[in-house]
This record gives sequence, C-alpha cells and structure tokens, in this order.
Amino acid sequence: MPPTDRASEQALLQSVAIVVAAGSGERLGAGRPKGFVAVGGRPMAAWSLDAIAAAGIPRAVVAVPPGHGAAAEELLHRELPLGLAFVEGGATRSESVRNALAAAGPDAEAVLVHDAARPMVTPGLFTRTLAALADADAAIAAARVTDTIKEAGADGIVVRTHDRSRLWAIQTPQAFRAEVLRKALAAGEDVLAQATDDAWLVERAGGIVRVVESPAANFKVTTPHDLALAGSLLC
Ligand code: C5P
Repeated sequence: MPPTDRASEQALLQSVAIVVAAGSGERLGAGRPKGFVAVGGRPMAAWSLDAIAAAGIPRAVVAVPPGHGAAAEELLHRELPLGLAFVEGGATRSESVRNALAAAGPDAEAVLVHDAARPMVTPGLFTRTLAALADADAAIAAARVTDTIKEAGADGIVVRTHDRSRLWAIQTPQAFRAEVLRKALAAGEDVLAQATDDAWLVERAGGIVRVVESPAANFKVTTPHDLALAGSLLC
C-alpha cells in the first residue's frame, strides 16, 4: 500500500461520524423528526449511515430529539459494519454535536459531522473531507455558488454584489481534528446558538478551515419540495 493510502486508512480507523438528527423538521411539516421521515422508502438518516459505513468509518453517534432514542434504535439499527450509538440532541445544532461528541469517547482523532437532512451524501465525500484534514483544522464540503449573490439592506435596496468566484455554499460532512472541535464547542451558549455550522466555531477561534468541493446533489432537505426531489433521486 503506498504511504498516502496507508495514512488515509489510518485516519479512517481513528475517526468517528456524528449524524445530527435532533432538529424538529418543522419546515418539512411531516409531523415527526426529519431524520425519521421516509425518503426513497427508508428513514432519511439511514442513507447517511450507509454512506458512513461504506466509507469505512468504524463508528457513528446519532443525535436524536429528546424522548426519541428508542424509536431511533428501532428505525435505524440495522446490520451495518458500524458501531452505532444514539444520544439526545440539544436545543441548538451545536449542542447536539457537543452531546454526540461527548458520547464518542476520548480516543477519536478525527470527527466527521453530518446533517441527517442530507441523505444524498456519498461515501467518497466523507473520505475526501477526512483526507483534506491533513493540512487543516477542519475540512468542509461545499458547493460552488452559481447564482449571482447580492446583498440588500432591510429596505430591499441592493448595497453590493459579491464576487461569486470566491463564494461557496457550505454543506456537510464537515471533518475536524477532534481536539479542535472539542475546544470550539466549549464556547458559551450564546455563541453556540449563533452557529449555523460547526466550522464557524473553528474559524472564530483562528483555526484553518479548508473547503472540499461537493456535488450539488448533496442538498439539505428542508421543504416538502426538497423531500420530493430527494425521493426521486434516491429511488
Ligand atoms: O435546522 P437546520 O436545517 O440547520 O438543521 C441541520 C441539521 O441539524 C438537521 O439534520 C437537524 O436534525 C440537526 N439539528 C440537530 N439539533 C438541533 C437542531 C438541528 O441535530 N437542535
């Protein structure tokens, strides 16, 4: 095995995946947590767990809404070559990540955080983000922005147009050196509540965050329209 392959193999063995599925999924209006909603004939979170197992990541911790642990075990626990644990999520996304990281144990060296709401993720995207950690504190899946992005004031008047060649729409998975993520998540509750992704917590602490280009199909299922589109892609 060439040295770079051996290094990637080693990184995989010491990694853990965190799947955040503790959001209410209100905008989807499905009447149950989003990660449990059926898409392509299976609970949404199951697609991500399959991709994690296929990538060779040995362990995953799933954050689920409080009171839904038993339902999650029943729906998601299947025969996968993956050590699987479930924890209760928190009031914010970052708190859910923090709870899952605490349950992941002290020996993980790399952590891959992924939204259960992105069922189209591929095993290759997990391995590419993990490999990009070699020279960064965090490596995050991102799609190039294809629309022109303008900034407008509260009055609806455009104040500037951004250079889209430098803009990325940030997705998950997001890979972190475990120590870096632990420190970033030790921020106060007010800071955690502002974080729409975990990489921002690393950026604000001065860490190096690298983008890894991802396919546009790795979109987040938020609305009933997204759910129908994801269903047609996953069938
Ligand atoms: O709300 P948003 O769409 O940004 O959620 C992204 C992901 O974070 C979803 O998979 C959702 O289940 C998860 N989440 C969570 N705990 C929360 C809020 C969101 O695990 N408190």
